[in-house]
Amino acid sequence: MVRRKGPVWKHFYCKIENDDSHPHVQCKYCSKVFQRAVPERMQSHLDKKCPEAPNDAKSQYKQQNSSTTSRIDNFNDCMTDEEQKSLELLLHKALSSANVSFSFVDDPFVVQFFQRLRPSFKLPKREEKIQSDEK
Ligand SMILES: [Zn+2]
Repeated sequence: MVRRKGPVWKHFYCKIENDDSHPHVQCKYCSKVFQRAVPERMQSHLDKKCPEAPNDAKSQYKQQNSSTTSRIDNFNDCMTDEEQKSLELLLHKALSSANVSFSFVDDPFVVQFFQRLRPSFKLPKREEKIQSDEK
């Protein structure tokens, strides 16, 4: 019996009818049956063929490590230059209007906060802000 089970197995019902090392499996989402439980084929069914498979059954989703950090890594975040500029401007306005020093952006917790919020947003360096503030 094969006891080495990858994450793909939890999306299938296992039907053991004899001591075959490849038990029958059935997809939990669309009832598709595999006569031979080959993890690669099961995964590719979930990835491409299964009409009902949830996102967390797909191989792109990191099953092994579902911590917050890896979710952020998976989060397909991208930002255009324009968006980056307009956010910088907004941040700039927010800080001056709240009378907050620009050293705010150097604070590790602030950096962390922005990282979580929008990983692709690059916090402006304090020096750049001081320069633009002098205009
Ligand atoms: Zn299916």
